[in-house]
This record gives sequence, C-alpha cells and structure tokens, in this order.
Amino acid sequence: MPEIHVSHMAKTFGDVKVLNDIDFDVQDGEFFTLLGPSGCGKSTTLNCIAGLEDPTEGVISIGERTLVDRAQRVYVPTEERNLGMVFQSYALWPHMTIRKNLAFPLNIRRTARADRDVRIREALEKVGLAHLQDRYPHQLSGGQQQRVALARALVYSPSVLLLDEPLSNLDAKLREQARAWLKRLQADLGITTLYVTHDQDEALTLSDRIAVMFDGVMTQVGTPHEIYEHPATAAVAAFVGSCN
Ligand code: ADP
Ligand code: MG
Repeated sequence: MPEIHVSHMAKTFGDVKVLNDIDFDVQDGEFFTLLGPSGCGKSTTLNCIAGLEDPTEGVISIGERTLVDRAQRVYVPTEERNLGMVFQSYALWPHMTIRKNLAFPLNIRRTARADRDVRIREALEKVGLAHLQDRYPHQLSGGQQQRVALARALVYSPSVLLLDEPLSNLDAKLREQARAWLKRLQADLGITTLYVTHDQDEALTLSDRIAVMFDGVMTQVGTPHEIYEHPATAAVAAFVGSCN
C-alpha cells in the first residue's frame, strides 16, 4: 500500500481549472518530486494534500486513512492530517526563540511538557542545531533557519513530509550544501517525502521518482534516469534537458 495516494484530483479557482485529473502514488520512504515550471500547479497539489486547499474532485489518502474523498464527503482538517510541512519562506516566528518556534506546533497538539522538551531536543539534534535553541531566528544564517523550519516540521513525528521549494531562498552555494544535507537526512529518517521544485537539477539529484507537470497535468512519472533518458514528450525533454 502506498503511503500517499492521490486519484482523479482536480482543482478549480473560479472558472479556471488549475489541476486536471491528477493521479499518483508515493511509496513508503520514497523521495518523490513534483517538477514543473512556475504556475503549473505544484503548490496547489501539495496544498490540497496538506489540507490548505480543498480539491474540487478526487481522493487523497495517507496510509490507510482517507483524508479527502469528494464523492463520499470525507474531509479531514489540516491539523488532524499528521503531515510535516516546509514552505519556500521558512516563516519562523521572529519574536520567538528557536525552542519556542518548535514548541508551538506541540502546544497546539497539547503535548505534555516533559514529552515536549524531549521532542524539541531530538528534532533539533536531527538537523544538528540543538546548541542554538535559545537563539532568535535573525541570529541564524539562512541555511540554519531552513534547518530549523525542517526540525519544526519533524517535531511531532509526522508520517509524511511536504516540502515546497524549501531551498529556493538560499544562495547557490548554500543551496548546494543544503541539498546534500537534505538528501542524507531524508535517507536516515526514511520518511516519505513529497518535494516540490521548478529546478530540474535539484529534482534529478534528490529524487527516487519525479512527476513532471505542465498546466495542471501530470505528463510523466518516472525515476530520474527514465525522465532524463526517455522523456515522454518533447515538452518534458525540453524542460528537463534545459539545465545542461
Ligand atoms: P506552482 O506552484 O507550480 O508555481 P501553483 O500551484 O501555485 O503553481 O499555481 C497554479 C495555478 O493556479 C497558477 O495559474 C496560479 O496563478 C493559480 N492559483 C494558485 N492559487 C490560486 C488562488 N488562491 N486563487 C486563484 N488562482 C490561484
Ligand atoms: Mg509553487
């Protein structure tokens, strides 16, 4: 059974259809990337899974749990989906220390105090920043802030990580380091990861499998090798090949 299952998902804003019959599965522990140009519907797909947007049609499940089934009127609210999320802007709360930033999602879930402190320390240890927990976000580098955002997404032990262009605010050199680090961490944790990027190179180096999207349609799903060596359409070839 796949960890993330999406079938016949569609999304309309007003009278514009931005997602069209989206179907894909992500396996347990897999690093799966949605790749495509800006505006093709990557974030909307992720947001529907996260519960930040409501798909107009379709079914979404995580493990054995159905989160959304429009036909059956099933809808699990976002705070009950047990997903960790990191966005393009890391959006740490500037007036809170790193520790308080991580405590916030645990407070919402009413985690007991003793358990909370252990979870915060463990999550920061995973990203190698336990020694900075009393600092404020502006006292950290961009790369460190992005790791804190990841620790905050991991702090309540989600079954799935959703990452929307988490490296795009970093400069090129930091991005390269962050990429290697992210790949190692994901492999160590073995956590199912759905990743969004418009960067072909990033998708090819990080992913177990890639779904290439254009205009709200998933055009091809395959391993980096399959996508690169055997593009299904001229558009995929042009887009994936354009990084070289
Ligand atoms: P991507 O993440 O691939 O850049 P998005 O999923 O953000 O693309 O957007 C897909 C399309 O949906 C774009 O045309 C965008 O303008 C449109 N869109 C996204 N969010 C909204 C919204 N809240 N209201 C109206 N249109 C939206
Ligand atoms: Mg986006």
